[in-house]
Amino acid sequence: MVTEQRIIYVCQECFTITEKQRTCCEHDMVRIDAGTPGDERSKPLRDAQGNLKSRAPVWWVERYAWWIGDDE
Ligand SMILES: [Zn+2]
Repeated sequence: MVTEQRIIYVCQECFTITEKQRTCCEHDMVRIDAGTPGDERSKPLRDAQGNLKSRAPVWWVERYAWWIGDDE
């Protein structure tokens, strides 16, 4: 089975997201493996009770705000 991995690029300054790497805000955009379309990694992070912890997708939290997903 072929699964389509989505690779996207994010600007660390203004958080613009593109599908092709380019320079934004005078920096190279950062490559992110966002997983397959519709999978858990592209959904907002929720805790065990289903409460929204962040509006950002999981891959974003892992990279830029890992402490949000850190359950004490
Ligand atoms: Zn930018």
